[in-house]
Amino acid sequence: MTRVAVVSPHLDDAVLSLGAFIHNLSRRGVEIAIVTVLAGDPDARTDAGPWDQQCGFRTLGAAARARRAEDERACHVLGASPVWLSYNDEQYDRGADDPTIAADLCVALGEPDVVLVPGYPLKHDDHAWLTRLVQLSDVVDPARTGFYVEQPYAAALATGRNSAKAPHQQPAWSHATMRPADAVAKMRAVAAYRSQHCMLGASWRRKLFAYELRRRGETVAWPPGGGVGELASIARQTFGVVVANEVLYMFNDLAVALTKIDDVLRDDGFLLTSNYVHGRSGELRRALDRSFDFVDAVHIVNPANPAAPRGWDIASHRKRQ
Ligand SMILES: [Zn+2]
Repeated sequence: MTRVAVVSPHLDDAVLSLGAFIHNLSRRGVEIAIVTVLAGDPDARTDAGPWDQQCGFRTLGAAARARRAEDERACHVLGASPVWLSYNDEQYDRGADDPTIAADLCVALGEPDVVLVPGYPLKHDDHAWLTRLVQLSDVVDPARTGFYVEQPYAAALATGRNSAKAPHQQPAWSHATMRPADAVAKMRAVAAYRSQHCMLGASWRRKLFAYELRRRGETVAWPPGGGVGELASIARQTFGVVVANEVLYMFNDLAVALTKIDDVLRDDGFLLTSNYVHGRSGELRRALDRSFDFVDAVHIVNPANPAAPRGWDIASHRKRQ
């Protein structure tokens, strides 16, 4: 089974930033772990820091326990497994030196195919520290390391005209695949982090979803070289038109091929197909009509072309609504 690990500084970053994509991957059978490094020491009796106090907690331990429970609910909604390291955020003593934390993180990650770490805007000191730790300490192979745009920070920074631009040129950002069901799951998962809502400001949720709507989803930078096999195509952006020109009869499993086309097609997208007429053309047409909404078709015969004496079926279908 393919495995992806999302490294989260605090108990909510991965879900706020990539919740829909995580849900999307999980639905496709990818095993997803959300590894939170600064999940806090649940046994600590230390007085709560300023942020945790404002969230209503009296001790570090109480905050860590309650926030882990929230994270567990959110991960359950998305089909991900939570993994928590008991190090502390910037309100407290970290709990160990960087090499110790890096070694622990390495064990917690296991051997995933891809690891996603915070990548932009890295405004929060804990986030910048964690990404540096992953990059500098060889916790994971750089060829397997990708990045994600962090929320709600990126949405809060986006204003006016520059909000439509990519956050920055490097790494190569792209839209993470998501469907309406994934966006709904993200909203449910985000709601689980109840203790944090009062601290995120009045309009953070509206800004976050407006930001993602403008970009047709969340933003990731897949590992250089396109990632790992199937995952590279899963992470790819969606398209308004897909043209399948004389290819559909070449797949061993047509149903799988059509599912993949459906996955990369936008909700208002069209599939244009051309297939020469042969013994299995009827089967092909029926399979297309089962998976997509039929729009129009023409049949063309070119008597001068001996390669396809029965001509071609050229059809247009829409993504099923
Ligand atoms: Zn954070």
